[in-house]
Amino acid sequence: MAFELPPLPYSFDALEPAIDRLTMEIHHDRHHGTYVKNLNAALEKQANLQSQSAEYLIANLSSLPENIRTAVRNNGGGHVNHSMFWRIMRPQASGNLDSGLDVMRAIEQTFGKLDDFKSKFNEAGAKHFGSGWAWLARGRDSKLQIMTTPNQDNPLMQGLYPVLGNDLWEHAYYLKYQNKRPEYLAAWWEVVNWKEVAQRFEESEQYFKKIAA
Ligand code: MN
Repeated sequence: MAFELPPLPYSFDALEPAIDRLTMEIHHDRHHGTYVKNLNAALEKQANLQSQSAEYLIANLSSLPENIRTAVRNNGGGHVNHSMFWRIMRPQASGNLDSGLDVMRAIEQTFGKLDDFKSKFNEAGAKHFGSGWAWLARGRDSKLQIMTTPNQDNPLMQGLYPVLGNDLWEHAYYLKYQNKRPEYLAAWWEVVNWKEVAQRFEESEQYFKKIAA
């Protein structure tokens, strides 16, 4: 199989109370698992594409055969989005003082205080209609922006690099929060792994250098 479901880097209950064990188990094993399965099925007859990264595939959808484009958009997007999502979270208890990171300085320069950024991000996520994702994305010009995308779309599809993203699908929060998406969005920051986010912020520079070369 070309693509595999990455194991969670912590136990299913590690993000409680912000995210409950059952939500994590269903979300990782079944939802993400299904995106991986369907992505592999879409690429079954495309040996030349199986060696590409999922990031490359979703950043270059228009170059793919038309009959698999939508499947790769939805399931490749789902695979890329969730692979990032598990990694940019960590158990609350292991969190120490995340401060002075370059990404935080860049956020403060763009949005004001970190809490102002979180409020703007949460507002964008709360206002987004239906399923999708809220993102902090970085452009080729290094500028940061808050954006949302529908379904499993990813900023890479618009030439932007996803620095962090939160899942707005009901499957991400409904068991614990039901219709109260704003409460989920607020609680999510308790489990954000800023060290991983900082690493993605650095990777964004290498990404744009690489695709410009
Ligand atoms: Mn999800």
